[in-house]
Amino acid sequence: KVRVRFAPSPTGPLHIGGVRTALFNYLYAKKHQGDFILRIEDTDQARFVEGAEDYIIDSLNWCNIPYDEGPGKDKGFGPYRQSERKHLYREYADKLIESGNAYYAFDTSEELDAHRQDHEANGKTFIYNWHNRLKLNNSLSLSEAEVKEKLDSGEPYVIRFKTPEDETLNLQDEIRGKMTVETKILDDKVLFKSDGMPTYHLANIVDDHLMEISHVIRGEEWLPSLALHFMLYRAFGWDVPKFAHLPLILKPQGKGKLSKRDGDKMGFPVFPLEWKDPKSGDVSTGYREEGYFPEAVVNMLALLGWNQGGGSEQEIYSLQELVEAFSLEHVSKGGSKFDPEKTKWFQHHYMQEADDNELANDFSALLKQKDLSPSKEYILKVIALLKERATFVSDFWELGNYFFTAPENYDEKAAKKAWKEDTTNVIEQVKSILKETEDFSASNLQDKVKGWITDQGIGFGKVMQPFRLSLVGAMQGPDVFEIAAAIGKEETINRLEKAQQ
Ligand code: GLU
Repeated sequence: KVRVRFAPSPTGPLHIGGVRTALFNYLYAKKHQGDFILRIEDTDQARFVEGAEDYIIDSLNWCNIPYDEGPGKDKGFGPYRQSERKHLYREYADKLIESGNAYYAFDTSEELDAHRQDHEANGKTFIYNWHNRLKLNNSLSLSEAEVKEKLDSGEPYVIRFKTPEDETLNLQDEIRGKMTVETKILDDKVLFKSDGMPTYHLANIVDDHLMEISHVIRGEEWLPSLALHFMLYRAFGWDVPKFAHLPLILKPQGKGKLSKRDGDKMGFPVFPLEWKDPKSGDVSTGYREEGYFPEAVVNMLALLGWNQGGGSEQEIYSLQELVEAFSLEHVSKGGSKFDPEKTKWFQHHYMQEADDNELANDFSALLKQKDLSPSKEYILKVIALLKERATFVSDFWELGNYFFTAPENYDEKAAKKAWKEDTTNVIEQVKSILKETEDFSASNLQDKVKGWITDQGIGFGKVMQPFRLSLVGAMQGPDVFEIAAAIGKEETINRLEKAQQ
């Protein structure tokens, strides 16, 4: 059975790169009727950040990619927080010592620093491995009695993996294919720390095994750990899951990994939801707060490093379509540039698809904040007129505030162009036509005003431009007769009068 896991460390808000990793795990699981598991990797207490776990869970829920198993949803493989599994790991470290795959190391950090400096002075890099482990302070270099004495006296130690001296490892990645790694260049990684906690490597492998994970889908930054993880599975005698390392998400300019700073500089969020840093109090905005729909964010993320293949140029995918189309085979090896404009393009698309009733509810909440409470019917009318041009719900206000309040000032450039010497006169006549018009529908208004313009033999612009300027305050917006019909006779005439002054 396919069982995949998203295994973030709660060290801060989830970056959209993390959301993409979660999404690809989710898609793979759903495609294969498998389980999507959330595991919180919080063994590094120093980097633990309050609120980060809730943030991760809220983000997955907002994206509509909830986990099947995880904190609060135990399906028999819990607990799902590594801090609550602490007691489990030691036994596995001991097993590796017994089988000769790991050893105690008593080197203090001062000793290790001294070795590093020595090596540096000779132009070399210190690597704790077969090369020099017999000269260092560990259970491979000491006698059994010495080791026993140190352990009995409670001297602090770590447990290190004993990397094979000279072996070529054949590794397999579902995205990158076959790889070989020479063990002689690897270091003996710490598996268990002196504080009694496992390191990421040990806890990660033990949990993936105990949770029966079939596929490890994670970011490219973990590719260098693959060799160690493979050797750990082998040392335990466990089946190795399949691995897939996802390509990086690159800066919009293409060079280097996308960072929060890029977002700050170019004005786009890199987090799904708003995040308030508990220490500094700094607030970073999120896609949700910027008005994006989760469908747009998910669609955008899915195409960062994946395509359907087979020459397909499809870009719009619902979550269900993604589940059906997804495969690891079509995840690219190379990084993909992040494109904030493309995200807006997706958002604009999903705005067009959105249900007007829901949009009206959201827009109505926004209007309330401005002490405006027009009828739902009116709001729906405005939405229908503006939707095509809108990307966000807030655009209904940006593009259409004049539907709710009279313009307070007029765009200067436009006024200069539209308002000529005789305009006040022209508007006076338009006003009297409007006053006589009983049927204030857009089509009837159009017939009346345009008919009059034609009769007069004057240019359309001469009338229509100041007319629009009076109602809107600028040269923008949908059909001006639609606007007049929406705001009604009285308001239209008032605005024309105000503009005349
Ligand atoms: N805790 C690791 C992280 O924060 C998980 C890496 C993995 O998926 O193995 O990215």
